[in-house]
Amino acid sequence: MEFKKCERCGCFFISEDNVCCHCKPKDRADTIKLQNFIEENGAGFSIEEISAGTGITTKNLYRFGEIQNISGTAGKTEFKPNIEL
Ligand SMILES: [Zn+2]
Repeated sequence: MEFKKCERCGCFFISEDNVCCHCKPKDRADTIKLQNFIEENGAGFSIEEISAGTGITTKNLYRFGEIQNISGTAGKTEFKPNIEL
């Protein structure tokens, strides 16, 4: 076990996670919001638009996954989560 710096609040903690125990529920709530937004609105949004629509900071959105342009489809995006939703 080693000290880690929380990716949300910057405090130091000991855990296998990337965020501290105080921020874990916030991460969970944000990923649920993100998932709901994508289910309701579909693809075609930039990370900034998703941030505005969900209230999740772009920094956290980049942590949760990648929003990529679907090749050959102008303006269409696809969210590729890199955490468990
Ligand atoms: Zn934290």
